[in-house]
Amino acid sequence: MEVLDGKKVSNDIKNEIAVEVQKMKDQGEKVPHLAAVLVGNDGASLTYVGSKVRACERIGFESTLVKMPSTTSEVELLAKIKELNEDKNIDGFIVQLPLPPQIDTQKVLLAVDPDKDVDGFHPMNFGKMALDMSTFIPATPFGILELLERYNVDTKGKHTVVIGRSHIVGRPMSILMGRKGWPGNSTVTLTHSHTKNITQIISQADIVISALGVPDFLKAEMVKDDAVVIDVGITRVADDSEKGYKIVGDVDYENVSKKASYITPVPGGVGPMTIAMLLKNTLLARERHRNA
Ligand code: NAP
Repeated sequence: MEVLDGKKVSNDIKNEIAVEVQKMKDQGEKVPHLAAVLVGNDGASLTYVGSKVRACERIGFESTLVKMPSTTSEVELLAKIKELNEDKNIDGFIVQLPLPPQIDTQKVLLAVDPDKDVDGFHPMNFGKMALDMSTFIPATPFGILELLERYNVDTKGKHTVVIGRSHIVGRPMSILMGRKGWPGNSTVTLTHSHTKNITQIISQADIVISALGVPDFLKAEMVKDDAVVIDVGITRVADDSEKGYKIVGDVDYENVSKKASYITPVPGGVGPMTIAMLLKNTLLARERHRNA
């Protein structure tokens, strides 16, 4: 069994990006600038946005954190997005989800300029991804592809079972694993809460990508020997630590790792890759703007 070490690979990627940024600085060019919009005070969202901003600083990007109160109206948020779309200094930006209930998330994601949509959530970018065109691939699925690639995991002709069909992880992952090329060329089954015989389907998988957010959902007896297991789940579970919680994935790591050929740990697997790929998308946005 080999651990797909997202912490190490994400650090490698950040170091590679930092080298590119240094080259830009040496040539007197503008460095990539990522902005993040955070509406409200959700604890997990604050943590995620904080990590993204710190990662930018570490590799030499410029970053801007736009904090808005939880009472922000849809009109106010749309006005802020228009401002960011028009700001030539900003190469890419993200709107941290979830948004408060008074705001229509779809409307907001549609308002983001596709050329600055480094999360890859705009329908235009999602459509391009589905058509194998060059675009911003959503950071979590992009990170999983990168892990499979850097560990040389064979995906051709394999049966990949994706659990969860969210627009940000499961659905795009199923499209990417089925596309022509590598990583890809898999035969994909996309499962969700209405899937019948899910245990039987998972037991036939060469590659399992679990993105449902249910701790310990995937047990050793559900996976076949030598399966590749990717755990996307991040759930806060209360414990006695100083923080008062620990982060757990969807997979019973201790037992599944004994059967798997490759497996991602939680924490330290897909999570850090997500941030690294957001930075990679921002670098891509800068390069596109420079060449436009
Ligand atoms: P989500 O929007 O929470 O949706 C969960 C999906 O799982 C839905 O498609 C749901 O089916 C399916 N599901 C729920 N219970 C199921 C069950 N018992 N059997 C089969 N399918 C079931 O998904 P998400 O936003 O992709 O998040 C999933 C997990 O990944 C969460 O823990 C989240 O925190 C984590 N996450 C991690 C990262 C990272 O960087 N590592 C990034 C994003 C998300 P229905 O569609 O039928 O409801």
